[in-house]
Amino acid sequence: MQKPVGAIVLFGPPGAGKGTQARVVVQRFGIPQVSTGDMIRAQVKAGTAATAAAAIMQRGELVPDEWVNQLVEERLKQPDCRRGFVLDGYPRTARQAQALQGMLEGNGLPIRTFDIRIGHHELIPRLTGRQCCPRCGAIYNVHGNPPKRPNLCDRDQTPLETRADDREEVIRERLLAYERQTRPVIEFFRQQGQPVYELDGTLPASEISGQLCRILSAA
Ligand SMILES: [Zn+2]
Repeated sequence: MQKPVGAIVLFGPPGAGKGTQARVVVQRFGIPQVSTGDMIRAQVKAGTAATAAAAIMQRGELVPDEWVNQLVEERLKQPDCRRGFVLDGYPRTARQAQALQGMLEGNGLPIRTFDIRIGHHELIPRLTGRQCCPRCGAIYNVHGNPPKRPNLCDRDQTPLETRADDREEVIRERLLAYERQTRPVIEFFRQQGQPVYELDGTLPASEISGQLCRILSAA
């Protein structure tokens, strides 16, 4: 059996490129991405989620820890998670982090926690300049990665959209909410003696993934 990679936990504010880094790790190490958002949406869609939980989701509130923990625990028992997995959207609270530790005690997978650090003054232009293609999902940025023709998708020439939650005041609020929510989880890992590897989020995405993969390979 190949060497275990571990339970990869990526922290980083919206716009720091967590999704990009998660995809790189998934491809490079051949482990799955475990997204609690996707699992919850699938359950709500299939009607297997409790009505109360579905209503919480629709209001955009955080779902109860017990429910998310149970979903993750079931998912991690699948054979494709044996060598490791990249967590997405989890753990979001210190209680979830504690539950994750408990789930991994039996199978010996280490938790590898990364914090992609980047200041708000760097993120706000990235996020406010974001444009999405409603047809193919391509994402552009008027500052860093503009479409070839203004406001039109390169692939299918569909007019691009700016999401309502990409407005500056909404973004500031999301960044503050992220800080409030994530700080205690990172603290929890530190208190448990788990290393939290800091990555410089101002670097190009390819350099961040280079560092990330080196740390994972060396471990
Ligand atoms: Zn498109």
